[in-house]
Amino acid sequence: MLANQAHDEKAFPALCARRIRLLSGSNRFVPAVVLAICATLFQARRAPAQWVDTRVAGPFVCRAEFSLAPGQDLLGELGQLQRELVHYLAIQPASEPIELYLFRDKRNYDRYLKRHMPEVPYRRALYVKRQGPGQVFAYRSREFETDLRHECTHALLHAALPLVPLWLDEGLAEYFEVPSHHRAFDNPHLKTLRWNLRLGTVQKLETLEKKATLSEMGLTEYRYCWAWVHFMLHGPREAHQELVNYLSDLQAGTPPGLLSRRLGNVRGQFAAHFKSWKR
Ligand SMILES: [Zn+2]
Repeated sequence: MLANQAHDEKAFPALCARRIRLLSGSNRFVPAVVLAICATLFQARRAPAQWVDTRVAGPFVCRAEFSLAPGQDLLGELGQLQRELVHYLAIQPASEPIELYLFRDKRNYDRYLKRHMPEVPYRRALYVKRQGPGQVFAYRSREFETDLRHECTHALLHAALPLVPLWLDEGLAEYFEVPSHHRAFDNPHLKTLRWNLRLGTVQKLETLEKKATLSEMGLTEYRYCWAWVHFMLHGPREAHQELVNYLSDLQAGTPPGLLSRRLGNVRGQFAAHFKSWKR
């Protein structure tokens, strides 16, 4: 932790973070349940030899229970994710490899977690960071690619930065979880956010910065974390610059303070940014 960040420390407990999206019968996104875990040391590398394919994509060392040959596009996309984070955020790339463990189905995934992390409540996709490399676990499902992009964004951020504020961690993961050509204009959050803004409801960045644990994060908080990231990436140039400067301070180990304070009056352009945001 940074030297004078006693207040903010509580906001950064989630080096091992996990998320679940509960899906209704359709593809609709319903409230997310999120929690921080402190799993026991999980030594997946010593797991039984069930991996039938192993490939490297950028910093990711990917082991799968199925052939990855048909998934080359997704692997390429994950490799590209590293370059995009570096490009958009001007951070140094991940300084360590990240391990991906991909399961053929839910049954195998459940069995694996039950065997190796029995104390951890079941969740559909998982990012764990303790000693050693970050690890991402997921199984093939309708949301497989979204889950991977989301969890891998967490993994890349935590491999590059000594800490990441909770709201920013989730906001960036929500932003980068959709395919790159959908990120600016077609994120599912955008439509609901526009309705929120029509009704005059805005969740301030200062409010999000006070969220201390993942259990305090519901769908609304995820949407506004995403929205503030979108504002800083696509809104006023000075907002993007402040995000870059903030992350640069984090990476250098310089106490960054609160991003809301650093943004100052430019925060007032948040609603106008989305009202005028058109393809
Ligand atoms: Zn997340």
